[in-house]
Amino acid sequence: MISEKSGSEEKLRVDAVVDCGGAKEGLTGLQYEVKGRGPRLPQLYFERGVPREYFYWIVPQGEGRYLVGTAGRGSIKRKLDAFMGSHALRERVEVASVVRAFGGLVIIRPPSSPYSSRFQGALAAGDAANQVKITTGGGLAFAAASASALAEAVDREEIWRYESWFRHRKNLIRAHAFLRQIYRWLPSSAMESAFNGKMQDYLAGHPLLFDQHWKYFVENAPDLLAALIPRARVKKSGRI
Ligand SMILES: Cc1cc2nc3c(=O)[nH]c(=O)nc-3n(C[C@H](O)[C@H](O)[C@H](O)COP(=O)(O)OP(=O)(O)OC[C@H]3O[C@@H](n4cnc5c(N)ncnc54)[C@H](O)[C@@H]3O)c2cc1C
Repeated sequence: MISEKSGSEEKLRVDAVVDCGGAKEGLTGLQYEVKGRGPRLPQLYFERGVPREYFYWIVPQGEGRYLVGTAGRGSIKRKLDAFMGSHALRERVEVASVVRAFGGLVIIRPPSSPYSSRFQGALAAGDAANQVKITTGGGLAFAAASASALAEAVDREEIWRYESWFRHRKNLIRAHAFLRQIYRWLPSSAMESAFNGKMQDYLAGHPLLFDQHWKYFVENAPDLLAALIPRARVKKSGRI
């Protein structure tokens, strides 16, 4: 094994080699931590125009701090700065100052293999294995879940357990990727009502289910599909 730090070759005995080096590709994500006054629960804002690449998020952190961010292609800073100065943001948060910025890649593709595409023979977990809730870009809970499943398999010297866990997980993440495509196509007003209204109510009754959008979608499918019908009519009549 070559140590990246010293550049020299070292012989090591290890149970497994795991790539936890983060995302390899995705949309560019940027968020500002701001001080100000705003909502108690997370809010999403969907740009008008269909399909849209991503949404804007406003996530309260407590003590008058909020994360305001988005993801996309091209100049994401310009896009976020425009949102910072917009009426849409002012309606939601009164920003007093920007404390800091944080950027990175936001994964939008489902995983393919539990093995690293960067390091031959190495396993992969977290963003390096596309373990992300593609509907919202949230990867912390999924990264932790993949790390636990992998650690258990390595501990038991039964790597097949991780491979099997991964196959199962892959289907869940594919479902999120499918949902993302539907979400991109739905009208902004339907998305804002679904996420800022109905999902908040739903979460209030199911506080541990934030990572289970699929369940939310199934339970709210009639409302979401009803929102699709007028959109499809508008599209057919060429009024988009
Ligand atoms: C703007 C933005 C906002 C986000 N907001 C949320 C959120 O609110 N909630 C949520 O759940 N998720 C969020 N995410 C996603 C979340 O950050 C990731 O899914 C999560 O951090 C993945 O964890 P990870 O450990 O797999 O990868 P990372 O957090 O990327 O960590 C990988 C680490 O490996 C290091 N590394 C890379 N290569 C090497 C190497 N060769 N040797 C040694 N070290 C190496 C990197 O420096 C890095 O520290 C957000 C992402 C972005 C970009």
